[in-house]
Amino acid sequence: MKLAVVCCLHGTEPYGLEVIKRLPVSIPSFIGNERALQEKKRFLESDLNRCFPGNKDGNHEEKLAHSLVNTLSNFDYVIDLHSSSNNCPLFGIITNPNEEKIELAKQLGLKRLVIMSESIASGRALIDFVKCGISLEIGPHHKVENVKEVSDSIFNLINNKNYSKKIEIYEVFGIIKKENQNVLIKNFQEIKKGQIIALDSTGEQKAEENFTAILVNEQAYSGILCLAARSPAIFINPASYKKS
Ligand SMILES: [Zn+2]
Repeated sequence: MKLAVVCCLHGTEPYGLEVIKRLPVSIPSFIGNERALQEKKRFLESDLNRCFPGNKDGNHEEKLAHSLVNTLSNFDYVIDLHSSSNNCPLFGIITNPNEEKIELAKQLGLKRLVIMSESIASGRALIDFVKCGISLEIGPHHKVENVKEVSDSIFNLINNKNYSKKIEIYEVFGIIKKENQNVLIKNFQEIKKGQIIALDSTGEQKAEENFTAILVNEQAYSGILCLAARSPAIFINPASYKKS
């Protein structure tokens, strides 16, 4: 299995450096955006994880994206490490779902997998341009336990341990805009239609439909309260997965 691990596509997510230090030297690892990391910025000119496949004559991030796609084309599996500003449990993110990607999530021992649907995802993330890619998300950024939890999941894959027989799968179907400042919901909470999800002196915001909340109050997504996902019971239908 040719596996590569990529960290720090976003310069404000340095925990990934600690994760790759723990991995065996036999696993190639790549730092996505070293300059952004040095400057403690998410990106310098454009969000690296929104500019794949990149451009060799483009801006800083577009050049990095172009070079990374070339480098990673030699690998069968790519794990892309991220962290969030919000407090969220470890989960995987895939786009264009297929059985191989879901199997990879299970081998990582993940309990939760989120499918970004084409209508929501930019289609320009790193994982859109590798053979079989998954992003791992965990938060908040500087929680020390994140390093162990994420490196343990990569060791699950390497050592064939802790296979996740049960994995909760969600599909993101919408984006909930932030209308009020005090957010009342948590990651992976099941929200019912009519439930108050945020409020402040200007009023309260009620859920317009049932959904599972993901990446609640994430600083990187300004103006967004959370992503709305369908509960797995509604979504899981292997026949609907595209074959790669
Ligand atoms: Zn990130």
